[in-house]
Amino acid sequence: MSATATLPKVPDQHGHFGKYGGMFVPETLMAALTELTHEYEMARKDPAFQAELDRLLHEYVGRPTPLYFAERWTEKLGGARIYLKREDLLHTGAHKINNALGQALLALRLGKKRIIAETGAGQHGVATATVCARFGLECVIYMGKIDMERQALNVARMRFLGAEVRAVTAGQATLKEAVNEAMRDWVTNVRSTHYILGSALGSHPFPMMVRDFHRVIGVEARRQILEREERLPDLLVACVGGGSNSIGLFHPFLNDKDVRMVGVEAGGDGIIPERHAARFQGGRLGVLQGTKTWLLANDDGQIELTHSVSAGLDYAAIGPEHAYLHDQGRVEYTYATDEEALDAFQELSRVEGIIPALETAHAVAYVKKAAPKLAKDQIIIVNLSGRGDKDVAQAARHIFGEGLKF
Ligand SMILES: *Cc1c(COP(=O)(O)O)cnc(C)c1O
Repeated sequence: MSATATLPKVPDQHGHFGKYGGMFVPETLMAALTELTHEYEMARKDPAFQAELDRLLHEYVGRPTPLYFAERWTEKLGGARIYLKREDLLHTGAHKINNALGQALLALRLGKKRIIAETGAGQHGVATATVCARFGLECVIYMGKIDMERQALNVARMRFLGAEVRAVTAGQATLKEAVNEAMRDWVTNVRSTHYILGSALGSHPFPMMVRDFHRVIGVEARRQILEREERLPDLLVACVGGGSNSIGLFHPFLNDKDVRMVGVEAGGDGIIPERHAARFQGGRLGVLQGTKTWLLANDDGQIELTHSVSAGLDYAAIGPEHAYLHDQGRVEYTYATDEEALDAFQELSRVEGIIPALETAHAVAYVKKAAPKLAKDQIIIVNLSGRGDKDVAQAARHIFGEGLKF
């Protein structure tokens, strides 16, 4: 498939990215989603809203993030020049706060004083609890009981920040069930409550809105690489869970037809049913939690179990815009296994002194394979979506063995 020069503007006014996306929600949420769509359109055009968002992104969150030339890693791999977009340096440690902050400002415009969110690894929960503390909003975070045990550090952070963390025990007791519980809460409390969804997923307008709040990543990277190299990059790389950090980097480059883009999904133990979360490897079209998209399900349409060493990539569906960009041939999707990600986690730590999140390590693993095959005058930008502090105990267990105690 060849990439089209100019892609149509998506989504349409009903949230469709081609045949993907839409609003697959209970009737009781339609009024709230319509109100949210309308308010977001107003905010987007309001210079005062944008100025407030920009000010807080700068002073509170730490933007712009550096575009760092990874000199030693480039030398080691012996191919393309590698730049890291340092989202790991943001307040709370990952890109997630770009979106959490934008949506908190929207909630204030909507006059909603109570915030709910779901979280898997806890990074989105921490970002949401942080902005709620900053604006004095009540905050309830839904989290699977299994994830709460795996990510105890982030549970403690959310509680320090004043959030109530509610354990979800249904099903696999992980992210999917936490989303179900958050949606149930929203249906019940929709008048007082805004739901800060954490990725480019769910019903319209979330995939569009979350994308827009993360576009700043690509807008900055584009400006920074033009300043530094006086040309556009040849390749962009990002890991893809729901797809927010990747679409944030990719979107401002979509019409630059010579810029290749690769999204890296979680290959887990390899492409064996229920042992990975790579939706484009054996996935199918379906509807999950508000949106029509590419997902992992069995022949009866039941959602399959997923697995990844990184909780942030461990989800059965991908954001609808990625399904669309996949079909257009504009973005390529591949995967990295747990083992490759753990190996990349160590390599970046040792060669550049930067410990990446395990999610991010999947993108790093792809760059390890791709860079040596490219010429020395070519340029790669990889989105360093988050830092690895939260993953230290887990990575240590894998790398140094079970006996290690903290
Ligand atoms: C949550 C998370 C991801 C995956 O989510 P996307 O919406 O696909 O970006 C990736 N990296 C980090 C550090 C995360 O916290």
